[in-house]
Amino acid sequence: MRILIVEDDEMLAEAVASALRQSAHMVTRAASGDEADRSLAANEYDVVLLDLGLPRLDGFEVLRRLRQRRSRVPVIILTARDSPEDRVAGLDLGADDYLTKPFQLAELEARVRALIRRTHAHASSEIVHGPLRLDMAGRRLSCNGQPVELSARELAVVELLLLREGRVVTKQQIVDHLYGWEDISSSNAVEVFVYRLRKKLDLSGVDIKTVRGMGYLIEKGND
Ligand code: CA
Repeated sequence: MRILIVEDDEMLAEAVASALRQSAHMVTRAASGDEADRSLAANEYDVVLLDLGLPRLDGFEVLRRLRQRRSRVPVIILTARDSPEDRVAGLDLGADDYLTKPFQLAELEARVRALIRRTHAHASSEIVHGPLRLDMAGRRLSCNGQPVELSARELAVVELLLLREGRVVTKQQIVDHLYGWEDISSSNAVEVFVYRLRKKLDLSGVDIKTVRGMGYLIEKGND
């Protein structure tokens, strides 16, 4: 998943970023409110972690502008301000969750997973599709109980396709999803990437279908 961390505390931002990267998320950082605002206007993220006390534009204003643009991206506010007024203000502006500093990275990661599941209407952190079982928490894919060896970015694309099963994922969405991770910037590169991925899923019988002129999809399973 693509996660934007908006945090001006360099050490905290890096600690959170590296934990999330370990879990195979694609992490982008913004260190000020206006940088965050520009990045949110230009890119699609799956989750935003938002500090409140930020240079130039505070977190409330970033959130207000984000919702004004009708973006529904889930936002978790991370802040040392823990007054009930701030919580209420943040939630009223359209934040989805609120975590007070200092927090445990494990708790933050669990909340990120919960939000991703909620966004995609999955009740657990596992997706089962035919013989495939994707463990989103453990970042593992198995086929009939046997582990399937995937790179972090291959896993991220399988996850994207499975979370949107039955719906087309465009090449541009895949490019956006992998942005900053690997230099997959053209639709040709996406085709090569998907070709490799198909081979790895070959034995499972699960097919990544090409929808001409649009993108790819994994058809809805029967389970
Ligand atoms: Ca701050």
